Amino acid sequence: MQQVQSGNEPRDPETVIVGVDVGGTKIAAGIVDAHGQVAGRIQMPTDIRDPEHTLQSIASAIKTSIEASGITPSRVKAVGLGIPGMVDPEQGICLLAVNLNWQNVAVQRWLEQELGLPCAIDNDVSAATLGESIYGAGQGMQDMVYLSLGTGVAARAIIHGQLYRGAHGMAGEIGHLVVMPDGPLCRCGARGCLEALAAGPALALAAQTAIAAGKETQLQVYQQRHGTIRSEHIFAAAADNDALALHILRQAGEHIAYGIYLLTMTFDPQLVVIGGGLASDQSPLLIAIRTRAAHLLAQSSASRAMLSTEAIQVTSMQRDAAIIGAAALVARANSQHKREKQ
Ligand SMILES: [Zn+2]
Repeated sequence: MQQVQSGNEPRDPETVIVGVDVGGTKIAAGIVDAHGQVAGRIQMPTDIRDPEHTLQSIASAIKTSIEASGITPSRVKAVGLGIPGMVDPEQGICLLAVNLNWQNVAVQRWLEQELGLPCAIDNDVSAATLGESIYGAGQGMQDMVYLSLGTGVAARAIIHGQLYRGAHGMAGEIGHLVVMPDGPLCRCGARGCLEALAAGPALALAAQTAIAAGKETQLQVYQQRHGTIRSEHIFAAAADNDALALHILRQAGEHIAYGIYLLTMTFDPQLVVIGGGLASDQSPLLIAIRTRAAHLLAQSSASRAMLSTEAIQVTSMQRDAAIIGAAALVARANSQHKREKQ
């Protein structure tokens, strides 16, 4: 099923960029103007039968988004793509994306040939981090950290105004930091990773385990109604003061706060922005994150001076962050190109 929302014509009548957020189950795309305004947002299922079909579903999402925005196609200057995996942005190759069944896929070349437009690619969390630093809460900040909480957990840092990539573009993958030795099994094979304790599927699993053990909770109703429990059900039950849902979010919040504490001590950021499907302001999860982070940071005078809990914020870009971030990859590629020419 395809969801199309007609958008307003972007403010800048000149050129626009298509930003694409590629996920394992759905592709989101939108037209982004020079001010970071988004039009023609669409969402389509990801066809993961094989790389060719996945690339075709991406191309189709791009074309549908351009049509939905109502802009003249000639105004589209380029395409930016955020991919959930290990990416070589210079070669335009996705080295590994487990959720897409991709290994060494020449994404950039395929899309450029198919669309006749320049294309820039990178890891999806890297893209969202760039978007946050260019258009979001991190505007004008030299040092910031972006933490994505959703189906997975990952962070990226902006250092001296530049995205810090590390040797493989994966610096900040704290989802697989072991925070509870011998804890629950993670999909990476290790036990007690932050992701196995605090990502969306981990919250759902904690609820299902508690219900199987005979815990009384509103979440039983969601399980009967939907045949399963998803993280959004836990947030809904917590808003209704369900004790189990609140307990699960508090525990996850404490683990995430520890992750933020480690990121703070590693990168000394001015700001930590939380994005992704689990990021929502004033939620019990966010309150637990702030409370625990305040406790951890207060323990030493050094960490107290480094980050206040007010500097832990939820993204203001919400659902557009990934699309805007993907478009920001094009701006980055252009500025690198200019620097190389000088
Ligand atoms: Zn792991």
